[in-house]
Amino acid sequence: LAVEKVTEVHEYEPGHDRGATHRLELLADLSRALETDDQISLHYQPKIDLGSGRLVGVEALIRWDHPVRGRIAPDAFIPVTESTSLIHPLTTRVLEIALRQAAAWQREGADIPVAVNLSTRCLLDAGFAGHVFDLLRHHGLPASLLKLEVTESLVMADPERCLSVLHALHDGGIRLSIDDFGTGYCSMSYLQRLPVGELKIDKSFVQGMTGSHGDAVLVRTAVSLAHSLGLEVVAEGVEDEATAAALREINCDTAQGYYYARPMPAGDFDRWHADVTRA
Ligand code: C2E
Ligand code: CA
Ligand code: CA
Ligand code: CA
Repeated sequence: LAVEKVTEVHEYEPGHDRGATHRLELLADLSRALETDDQISLHYQPKIDLGSGRLVGVEALIRWDHPVRGRIAPDAFIPVTESTSLIHPLTTRVLEIALRQAAAWQREGADIPVAVNLSTRCLLDAGFAGHVFDLLRHHGLPASLLKLEVTESLVMADPERCLSVLHALHDGGIRLSIDDFGTGYCSMSYLQRLPVGELKIDKSFVQGMTGSHGDAVLVRTAVSLAHSLGLEVVAEGVEDEATAAALREINCDTAQGYYYARPMPAGDFDRWHADVTRA
């Protein structure tokens, strides 16, 4: 349906059809990709406890290997997909892969919580929470092993509708996280109303904190704000020891970034995990 809309734009604005044609092609290709098993996969990036250095979970990040164009970055297709209903089957696919993987880890004796990124549209869908619980049941996985990351700007778009879905997810035991914190305009009173347990500070601030006083102050303030609201804090985009040290200094809970590990396919993650567990 959304694809038809794009076609219309393309037909009525012949002078501006390059972007629309590109979008249309991308959506058609993605729709075909969802009918196959070999184009969409997930990479897993470790989340590390800053105090102990131990693994506390992973974030699942989508990868699309286009048969002609090769690997397409999520930033090049997620925003376009989010503006159409194709985001629903895409999210379902991501949840299915992530839950199947978490169930496999659990069978091997490792309880590794998996965080999945959500789009606005999912939270506007009243049936979404029920759908997620069905998937958890199908994979025999406890809700505590799934975490869902939502961006603050996303929730601000239609707070009342999003809140009811967020509460349903939270009441069923799924942990929620606010992603890209600092890039939107989430007020403190609003943050307090959300049933979230974790706040992720956007990598743009984390990466600036060792060089820019402003970013360092922002990160420190975000950590103390989160702690005063009873939330845990994850710093994303940690690329060096100096940043990790600065984060430990201000009592940030968790870190994620290339300094520890890049997002990797499940097989590589398993080898990485075996290595760090042995060490
Ligand atoms: P995000 O949720 O903020 O994910 C973090 C991004 O930072 C990922 O990019 C990750 O690969 C990258 N990253 C991790 N550590 C570092 C680091 O140390 N330095 C730098 N420079 N980057 C780091 P990626 O995988 O390209 O994903 C981009 C965005 O696409 C994600 O941002 C998320 O918003 C979206 N996305 C990814 N997978 C999904 C998905 O399954 N569903 C939805 N709705 N969105 C997704
Ligand atoms: Ca995320
Ligand atoms: Ca983020
Ligand atoms: Ca982001």
